[in-house]
Amino acid sequence: MSGRVLVVDDIEANVRLLEARLMAEYFQVLTATNGRDALEICANGQCDIVLLDVMMPEMDGFEVCRRIKADPRSLHLPVVMVTALDQPDDRVAGLNAGADDVLTKPVNDLALVTRVKSLIRLKMLTDELRLRASTGQELNVHDLLVRGSSQEKPSLLVVDDQPHSYERILKYLSAENRITLISDPREALVKAIDGDFDAAIISMSLADLDPLRLCSQLKSLEQTRMLPLLLVSELEQERKVIQALDMGVNDYIRRPVERNELLARVRTQVRRRRFNLLLRDSVQQTIEMAVTDALTGLNNRRYLDSHMPGMFEQARGKGRPLSMLICDIDHFKQVNDSHGHDVGDEVIAEFARRIRKNIRNIDLACRFGGEEFVVAMPDTDMKLARVVAERIRNEVAMHPFVVDHGGKQLAITVSVGIATLETDEDTPEKLLKRADIGLYQAKRAGRNRVIAEAA
Ligand code: GH3
Ligand code: MG
Ligand code: MG
Repeated sequence: MSGRVLVVDDIEANVRLLEARLMAEYFQVLTATNGRDALEICANGQCDIVLLDVMMPEMDGFEVCRRIKADPRSLHLPVVMVTALDQPDDRVAGLNAGADDVLTKPVNDLALVTRVKSLIRLKMLTDELRLRASTGQELNVHDLLVRGSSQEKPSLLVVDDQPHSYERILKYLSAENRITLISDPREALVKAIDGDFDAAIISMSLADLDPLRLCSQLKSLEQTRMLPLLLVSELEQERKVIQALDMGVNDYIRRPVERNELLARVRTQVRRRRFNLLLRDSVQQTIEMAVTDALTGLNNRRYLDSHMPGMFEQARGKGRPLSMLICDIDHFKQVNDSHGHDVGDEVIAEFARRIRKNIRNIDLACRFGGEEFVVAMPDTDMKLARVVAERIRNEVAMHPFVVDHGGKQLAITVSVGIATLETDEDTPEKLLKRADIGLYQAKRAGRNRVIAEAA
């Protein structure tokens, strides 16, 4: 796997050592000997992961890590702290500073490489989402984070069949999390699919189920693919842990489980998952924005253009009628001129609601431009189209529009042109053109009326 690893250590020999090990695995390696340089490389997006020494003059590793995680440009970067002191306190301090893991010097080669690989792989997922979310709109990372952290208590799934073990885990976690305990591991998969969990904590010492099999199932199912998995391992399970990380397990913690370490690791996983979920929503929004009109929530013209040919083909193929109407608000310029553009917008939005209220789900309504709307209606002949158009016209003319926070009532009317699929030579463009001629005639004839135009 390729990936760009930034190694930060104030001692040149340590940098060279890690660099050699990583280059042997075909990673691209960048180096920095102080926090300030490291932060700059991170902010410029030049690396995919950071290996960070704790003890450095000027700015220590904890501070560098905190700053990486506080900067929107770099907070998605995985950070592994490398500490000389085998102190649980140091480990927890690193995790609390936002580090994804803390390894102790001398670093075991295999553990290091596996960790780096698995964290880079997880980052790739976030990168992909970031990329897609940012096309078309500037991604507001800060906004995502604020929304992510203001959500309710994390919901955790704990899979463990040994009371002395899970009682301890529950005791540590239950203050700041909602927990579902599965003491029969065979139920874990189904529960994980059903529940919307922020993370799963899985014991590696289950009596009659291979925990790695469970992990691999969870990582391959669409519904649970994004669920972070944290394994609880025995000291001698190093090899299995490495296998697990290789298959996509997100993190692990060794027994005896230490309270603060567990809390910190769970928090990291929950934070990352919520960030990814918000990114995914934002991707969805970007896609919807491309075909939706923001003011009315109706589809836009682009959507209509791309769907009309399909509706046409369907109607022709089945020999079913298809009609189209165009409505345009009468003297709308006067609304803007007398009451301001914002009130104008309110009228447009309310007008869209009234259209939607009077059509079926299968009808396609779109904002064609300004105060002009088009509705395409499958299975609808001219007679029925006229009924629908009259219904919309009436709904607008009969009930004044309440705008400006209830402060004003405006009398609004609308003119409508209709056309229906007639000859074999008809095209979406011709149909639209005829409906538009109908609309023009309705305006000329005094507005607030419906006129159909035949081919
Ligand atoms: P007619 O009865 O002939 O349709 O008269 P009209 O005043 O509605 O005529 P026209 O279509 O020329 O004017 C439409 C106006 O709608 C002009 C434009 O400034 C305004 N408009 C277009 N889009 C928007 C919008 O999104 N919000 C608001 N408030 N006004 C808009
Ligand atoms: Mg108008
Ligand atoms: Mg107009």
